[in-house]
Amino acid sequence: AKGQGRNNYQFFQAAMTAKAQERLHLENDLRHALDRGEMQLHYQPQVEAATRKVVGVEALLRWHHPRLGMVSPAQFIPVAEETGQIIRLGEWVLFTACTQAKLWRDAGLPPLRMAVNVSGKQFRQQDFVATVDRVLAETGFDPGCLELEVTESVIMEDVQETIQTLNNLKARGIRLSIDDFGTGYSSLSYLRQFPIDRLKIDRSFVSHLPGSEDDEAIVNAIIGLAATLHLEVIAEGVETDEQVRLLTSWGCQKLQGYFFGKPLPAEALSEMFEMAGA
Ligand code: C2E
Ligand code: CA
Ligand code: CA
Ligand code: CA
Repeated sequence: AKGQGRNNYQFFQAAMTAKAQERLHLENDLRHALDRGEMQLHYQPQVEAATRKVVGVEALLRWHHPRLGMVSPAQFIPVAEETGQIIRLGEWVLFTACTQAKLWRDAGLPPLRMAVNVSGKQFRQQDFVATVDRVLAETGFDPGCLELEVTESVIMEDVQETIQTLNNLKARGIRLSIDDFGTGYSSLSYLRQFPIDRLKIDRSFVSHLPGSEDDEAIVNAIIGLAATLHLEVIAEGVETDEQVRLLTSWGCQKLQGYFFGKPLPAEALSEMFEMAGA
């Protein structure tokens, strides 16, 4: 048994080392990913529940790694956050998303809202608002069509600073959304003070609909809370017809998920828009 314990330990150590090495590689490769053109944005439709019309898209980052293939943002965003590379990456995302949205607008599409994810580190940068200003000026995109998604946990971190930054963004007409709502610990009294426009119900609650009484109650509570605070509410991760029906009947205004479309490259979405006769 003693020998086996030792083997287990060695195995554990080897696994740890492999993991640490993998992480180091990822960190290094990430440094060059942008310059080597390995990053791309995909866009996922957001629809109005009542009409099922596409009224916006969310920009989602994709990394085509030369050896590993597609690396999930869930894997590399935390690494980019820790190393600070998220600042440059985030600015590229914002710039690329606004450029694309402007292209669609100029092509004659009805105004689409462009939702862009903002990481905590990015949001807390002293010059974050100035960066947003510069990107808007450079791309000529209408700030009224831009929506920034910040997660609930980030928004609750430093409330006074959050309110100031949100107010500055709001003054430019930018819309603000709390992402992954329900997974953090929002203080309701703070929520009331934030100049936000919408709550995004986290997929973890939506995915158990219908069937989980708890999740049904939570989703209903969030929709009710949004109504009370005069906020718009959108559900993410909507995959089934039944979920669409339920969420719509409960008063959820907007829906996003594989049921309506997976995140796609801009060209693929453009074709979809053309076919829809938009
Ligand atoms: P998120 O912001 O909560 O984005 C939603 C995630 O759910 C996306 O994963 C999307 O592809 C996926 N999804 C959408 N609909 C469905 C569905 O119906 N079923 C299922 N199973 N999944 C669905 P993705 O693209 O892998 O992104 C993961 C996370 O990485 C995002 O979660 C976001 O937190 C982060 N992320 C992605 N792009 C960016 C970015 O440009 N900047 C920052 N800071 N974070 C990003
Ligand atoms: Ca998001
Ligand atoms: Ca989310
Ligand atoms: Ca989520």
